[in-house]
Amino acid sequence: MPALIDDGAPGSLVLPDGRSIEFAIRYSNRARSARLRVGTREGLVVIVPTGLQRERVQQLVASKRDWIASKLDDIDAIRHLIPQVAPARPQAFDLPALAETWQVEYREMRRASVGAKTDQPGRIVVFGAIDDVDACHAALRRWLARRAAEALPPWLERVGAQCGQQPTAVAIKNQRTRWGSCAASGRISLNCKLLFLPRELVRYVMVHELCHLIEPNHSHRFWTQVRQMEQAADLLHGRLRDAWKSAPPWAQRGSGNRL
Ligand SMILES: [Zn+2]
Repeated sequence: MPALIDDGAPGSLVLPDGRSIEFAIRYSNRARSARLRVGTREGLVVIVPTGLQRERVQQLVASKRDWIASKLDDIDAIRHLIPQVAPARPQAFDLPALAETWQVEYREMRRASVGAKTDQPGRIVVFGAIDDVDACHAALRRWLARRAAEALPPWLERVGAQCGQQPTAVAIKNQRTRWGSCAASGRISLNCKLLFLPRELVRYVMVHELCHLIEPNHSHRFWTQVRQMEQAADLLHGRLRDAWKSAPPWAQRGSGNRL
C-alpha cells in the first residue's frame, strides 16, 4: 500500500485567466518527484515526496499553471457526460412544454412507501419514507406520468385535428429510448419526459406519430407527409437527438414498466 498522506490544508493557485483554484497536497513516501493529477471529481491533486516543503510545492504547481488550466478546460468540456455520483432529491424543476415551474417539498411520514401529490398550483409534496432517495424519484416519476396523462392527450387531439388524423387510443409511458410510438392498432404512445422539452418539439413528436397512422414506416412518402404538417420537421427531428439531456436524472431512471 502506498502511503499517501493528505496534508489537510489545500494549496491555492491563480490560473492565467485569473481564476483562483484550490488543490489537495498528498505526501507519499514512494514518490521520487512531484506528480500532478487533474480529475473530474477531485480537481487538481499534487502528489509529492514526503518532506518536500510546502513553499516548494506551491512553486512547482505555479510553474505548471498553463498545463493545469488546459486540463481543467478539457474537464469542463466533458463534465456534462459524467453521471452524477448521487443524484439528490430535486427541490424544483421546470416543465417547459407546459410553461410550468414546480417546487418540491418533502414531508417525513411514518409509512413504508413514498407518494407524491400536487399540493397547490406549482407545488408538489413528496411524503412518506423520504430518506429513500430512489423511492422519492420513483414517486416523482409517477407524478410526472399523471401530469403527462392530463396534459398530453388533449394536446394530441388538437394536433390531430390539424393533421386530420386521430389515434384510436393514447398511452403515456416512460420509455428510455423513444419519445413516442405508433402501433398498428392506431394507438399512440407518448413519453412523459416530453414535458421537459420545448413546445415545438412536443408538437413535432405528435405530428410524427400521427403521420404514422397514414404511413407506418419512414418512407419518402412518410416524410413528405410530416413536412407538410410541420415545415421545420428536419430541424426539429435533429434537435430531438440531444433532447434526452433536458430531462433530469430522476425522471430518466424509470423504464416503462415501473409506471
Ligand atoms: Zn417514426
